[in-house]
Amino acid sequence: MRVIVIGGGVIGASVAYRLTRARVEVMLLEAGRVAGGTSAATFAWLNSNDKTPLEYHQLNADGMAEYSRLRQELEPAPWLHTDGNIEWAGDASGEAALRGKLARLRGWGYPAESLPIAALRDLEPELVAPESVTEFVFYPSEGYVDVPVMVGVLLKAAADAGAQIVARCRVTEMIWDRGRVRGVATANGIASMRILSRAAPARGPMRSRRWPASASLSPQPSDCLRSPIPRRWRFGASCTRPP
Ligand SMILES: Cc1cc2nc3c(=O)[nH]c(=O)nc-3n(C[C@H](O)[C@H](O)[C@H](O)COP(=O)(O)OP(=O)(O)OC[C@H]3O[C@@H](n4cnc5c(N)ncnc54)[C@H](O)[C@@H]3O)c2cc1C
Repeated sequence: MRVIVIGGGVIGASVAYRLTRARVEVMLLEAGRVAGGTSAATFAWLNSNDKTPLEYHQLNADGMAEYSRLRQELEPAPWLHTDGNIEWAGDASGEAALRGKLARLRGWGYPAESLPIAALRDLEPELVAPESVTEFVFYPSEGYVDVPVMVGVLLKAAADAGAQIVARCRVTEMIWDRGRVRGVATANGIASMRILSRAAPARGPMRSRRWPASASLSPQPSDCLRSPIPRRWRFGASCTRPP
């Protein structure tokens, strides 16, 4: 099977990575530079300490656990920072609300602990709490993701497994054939998802230019991202454009 992934943000990079792991032949087309869209602007905070109801909380907690699993898959993982998160309340009503939240999170099995303010020195030596604060809550499993670095790592792994990554290549049109999308038109040419030749097996080792070794953690590696659409991905004669 051939799949064209449109967009090289964190979603496109994750999809390309997972598909190549499943031995799908993938080409990712990015209009600008990879990880140059929303994924470059996000704070990417990993947290679920203030999400209700339980189902929404659990969805976020499961997502956090997935990042930890991905770290094991892609070690080393300099893109993942799970240093924890600190929260304290500024007044009595805030403290009561925080205690209530702590009880709820513990009931849901989410890592959260109440610590005396003296423990702040060990966790964040530079952080000074107001004198009125006597305790704080620590969420040890929270953190943040350096998304452009993660996108670079995912795309390198995808490219090493055979994916074609083409940047500065905007998709302008879907190509339809008998009611199905068969490919896409881009400023650089037309790419097809059709298997044009039986000689190119969907399974087995895939031919690909390897990602440059020097590009290891860069989200914007050089040459292979600027390459034109490879010949074997080009549009087959039997596809038709929509009217
Ligand atoms: C200020 C801010 C804070 C955020 N904070 C958090 C947070 O704390 N935690 C969290 O989980 N999420 C957060 N988010 C949300 C998160 O950043 C996004 O959900 C995520 O980055 C979206 O990724 P994406 O791959 O879908 O989009 P993008 O990163 O935007 O990628 C889409 C890509 O598609 C490309 N593209 C578009 N059109 C075409 C085309 N026609 N042809 C080819 N390529 C095309 C674009 O160039 C772009 O690179 C935040 C977002 C913002 C803006």
